[in-house]
Amino acid sequence: MSKDKNLVNDEEEETEIDLTIIPSIKNLSPTKIANQFWCEMQLHLKLHLGMEPTEEMITGSEIHRNLEEELGPVVEVVVTTFEDNLIAYILQIYTKLQTLLNRNITRELPVIGKIQDIPCLGIIDQIEIEEAESDNKKMVITDYKTRKSKRAPSYEQKRRNRIQLQVYWHMIRDLREKKFTIEMFKEYFEVPEELVPSDELLQQLPDEHKEILEKSSPHQLLEKVFSIFKCLPSLSNELKAIYMHQIDQQVVFADRTYFHEESFEVDMEWAVGYWKGERTPNECPQQWMCKFCQFTDNCSYFLKRYLNKKETKNK
Ligand code: SF4
Repeated sequence: MSKDKNLVNDEEEETEIDLTIIPSIKNLSPTKIANQFWCEMQLHLKLHLGMEPTEEMITGSEIHRNLEEELGPVVEVVVTTFEDNLIAYILQIYTKLQTLLNRNITRELPVIGKIQDIPCLGIIDQIEIEEAESDNKKMVITDYKTRKSKRAPSYEQKRRNRIQLQVYWHMIRDLREKKFTIEMFKEYFEVPEELVPSDELLQQLPDEHKEILEKSSPHQLLEKVFSIFKCLPSLSNELKAIYMHQIDQQVVFADRTYFHEESFEVDMEWAVGYWKGERTPNECPQQWMCKFCQFTDNCSYFLKRYLNKKETKNK
């Protein structure tokens, strides 16, 4: 949850949150941007008020973990310093890229880029290298979604997830084509000149990860990460979203979409307008979506509609 400190008045006993303020964030994420295309007001209220993880979200992360484990054990470390956090992050990107090069597939790959001039951080569910025409290879991005029901997703759900996939595509393309550079990475994370893993971090790492850090310093590893990104095969314009049932994990629906530069730019121009405070948050495109929303009590759109209905009834 991102809560702007300025929104909270510490002097009062009861903290008051001004819901008209656009929350300040250090970076965007593909999920946040995608959620703007579901209901921007819902995202706005979630950032201000926080949200308890739903049953669907918990099952979703379990399924993602299972998928990640299919390619090897998941390494989890507890880090207590900024430096270790950064080293663990670089190491994670490096090892996930190695998996992609060695096995033609990787899962839960962290990526960084920019949407217009705002930094954006995300984790891609899956990238696979596939054979394409005339011995060329192409990378295909896939996102996995979980569903409570076995029905196909609605247009709005597909639209939100297609946006998320397009943001991933844009970020990988920029890393491949050096539009997002190692210098930008260092600037964003304020990477110190000296970066040495602590004993606490090293003790938690499996031997093969320790070996990587023995052979290369974190700075050298970061250089390697950016070199690998540059050498990756080109991206397929086709993007896939696989919808799995929450209980039996059967595939309920497979959606395909294509990256389209012009429409992507138009969509991002609109999305960024909110973060820059150029406009207030939009309401959801369909009223049925409010039935599944936790924020009806705080949503000005919902309350206005509710009051209007009441007035019409009383007439
Ligand atoms: S009640 Fe409806 S319009 Fe309001 S935040 Fe929720 S989904 Fe969006």
